[in-house]
Amino acid sequence: MNKLSIFILFTLFIACQTANTDSKIESKEKPTEKVLVSQKDSMPPSPDLGSVMGKIDYPTDNRFSKIESKYADRADRFMHKEAYQSFIKMYEAAKSDGINLVIRSAARNFNYQKGIWERKYNGKTKVEGKDLSKAISEPVKRARKILEYSSMPGTSRHHWGTDIDLNSFENDFFESGDGLKIYTWLQKHAHEYGFCQPYTPIGDERPNGYFEEKWHWSYLPIANQFLNKAKDSLTNQMIKGFDGDEAAVPVDMVNNYIFGINHSCKH
Ligand SMILES: [Zn+2]
Repeated sequence: MNKLSIFILFTLFIACQTANTDSKIESKEKPTEKVLVSQKDSMPPSPDLGSVMGKIDYPTDNRFSKIESKYADRADRFMHKEAYQSFIKMYEAAKSDGINLVIRSAARNFNYQKGIWERKYNGKTKVEGKDLSKAISEPVKRARKILEYSSMPGTSRHHWGTDIDLNSFENDFFESGDGLKIYTWLQKHAHEYGFCQPYTPIGDERPNGYFEEKWHWSYLPIANQFLNKAKDSLTNQMIKGFDGDEAAVPVDMVNNYIFGINHSCKH
């Protein structure tokens, strides 16, 4: 090997090392950019309208978690992940104060709600002891009766996995004994965990909507994302696909029921 060849090889060697160093710098910089991009991608997107209306399969949707059976009356219940994590903290705090919270209902999708609604609408489930299909023939009047305590499919806060029913479906239960202890504890502490009672008594403060439900609690940080999407995109005309859906426009489901909640739950 002559001197020229050695010089050429040496020059090539130096050139390669420089290129290597450059590529190392590049490869160091690129992942940083990728991390930033992927953090941005992993920000929870605002809910789509289908999700607002309960077109969700909770077991296969990674925004939701299965509720451990020790927190609920049944094993196959689901909640929005963040709401569930906060519920667990609330459950533990309540437990240390001698209060036992039991989830009686959680996420319910459109089809599940359609079952509840149509059984009442068609008389299979009695409402106040009556078969409404016989007792109230006029569709809008019949819908209003059901709407005292049940939502039309596509409009329930339970669709969002952020709302839970606790311990009992009777207001009376929460007015004495253990029930009163539970309710008093929730009124004092639920807000510390992001939960609010949307269905307070109908009156001056809340003129429209469902009747009072002392058992129904909503995890606001996520629920309000769904509520805002409903405010932007959901109309009464979109609420359809079930028996009695012709009542959605006359009763003004969006304004009177979806937004007919305790004002302090809107923030
Ligand atoms: Zn409820």
